[in-house]
Amino acid sequence: MVPSLRNLKKYTEIVFSRTGSDGRTEALAHLQGKTLRLEGEDALSLLKQAKEKAVPIKALEDRHLVLARGLDLQAHLRFPGQGDRETLEGGLLSALAGGYDSVIAMPNTKPFLDTPDKIQACLGQIEAGGFKEVRVGQTAAATLNMQGLEATDIAELKRAGAVAITDDGWGINSNEIQEKVLRLCASEDLLFMQHAERPDHKGVTPEGPFQQRHGLPAYPDDAEAWMVNRDIELVRKIPKARYHVLHVSTAKTVELIRQAKREGLQVTAEVSPHHLFFCNEDIPDPSHPHSTYFKMNPPLFRASDREAVRAALREGVIDCVATDHAPHSAQDKAKGWVEAAFGTRGLETALSVLCTLCKEGVLSYDRLETYFSTRPREILANPNFSHADGFVIVDKSEEFLVTESDLPGISRNSIFLNQKLSGKIVGLISSEGSYFNN
Ligand SMILES: [Zn+2]
Repeated sequence: MVPSLRNLKKYTEIVFSRTGSDGRTEALAHLQGKTLRLEGEDALSLLKQAKEKAVPIKALEDRHLVLARGLDLQAHLRFPGQGDRETLEGGLLSALAGGYDSVIAMPNTKPFLDTPDKIQACLGQIEAGGFKEVRVGQTAAATLNMQGLEATDIAELKRAGAVAITDDGWGINSNEIQEKVLRLCASEDLLFMQHAERPDHKGVTPEGPFQQRHGLPAYPDDAEAWMVNRDIELVRKIPKARYHVLHVSTAKTVELIRQAKREGLQVTAEVSPHHLFFCNEDIPDPSHPHSTYFKMNPPLFRASDREAVRAALREGVIDCVATDHAPHSAQDKAKGWVEAAFGTRGLETALSVLCTLCKEGVLSYDRLETYFSTRPREILANPNFSHADGFVIVDKSEEFLVTESDLPGISRNSIFLNQKLSGKIVGLISSEGSYFNN
């Protein structure tokens, strides 16, 4: 399959070059199925060879940021069995368009991926789909039927190809089951990823003006921290466990993670682009056609919580950014605030959101590759995903409005629709094919 990307032309071989103010030449290349990044004499000799072989050579300028392609630790590909929400190809094209070479897929599909057979079948079907430009790491469920009652066969799930264990969508309520899952993950050296949420609430959005104005059930602001606190207690008992908090959303959780890291526990955390960018005050009135695109789990908390997750990412208390890309059908998002499905898309816009935050001085361009590619790979710690395949080129100065045509696939529920972002992806270099905007 040869995917097409809007506005980007595909190349079978290509070289990019630029000379810095220090006179040193840098070259990036996709040649003979390999990707390269060279400097100085090596770059000059590569450019000479490219000229001789008539390989297209494109000039990069200061405004172009070059990063290793990303790894998204949390994406919902809705495969298998949820093609009404999104197609497999739609999800993978979104990852490709967003500069990712790898996505880690959540197991809350139809059926739930809770047995080795189901993991093997899912991976086999993805492989047979032939979409080679993005790699999929499949996670497996922590408990049977994702009910939190009985641990899955984690050793066999690993043998079947699972790269991490999670019941994402739900937290594991039972202390006993959670402890067992952490022990099994530790003995298999598999990452455990927690969707931290106390189970006994029916809240949809945090207490505040929006929730009060529309009489919505309040989402408790300690639901996440309550479970993270319980889990850190367990990790103290099982120091070999590698425990990762998915989509951190509150200041309270940040403080718990800070403390756990101080103690030297193997605790890591991610934050989503939407929790970095928006807060509760940004939710449009329910009469707005996209209002429920702002409904997700965990929800958008106060501006002070957004400030806390931003600061935590800058300080390294939160390690990286992951999208929680969650496509839904138009019908499921049109049910009103109480009933509408939780989640927003995010793969295709994450890097531009991060660039926008860099431009605003919230984050630093120097750390983007860490958040987007390096640190997620270290956290996963799976040899098949330890190196990025190629590079993504972003034009830092280009501003654009996110429109529906920027969203590959069939779902439309992006919280970033109609948002002005700066930092447009203008090129991709991968061993399977490269793209540039001219
Ligand atoms: Zn989740």
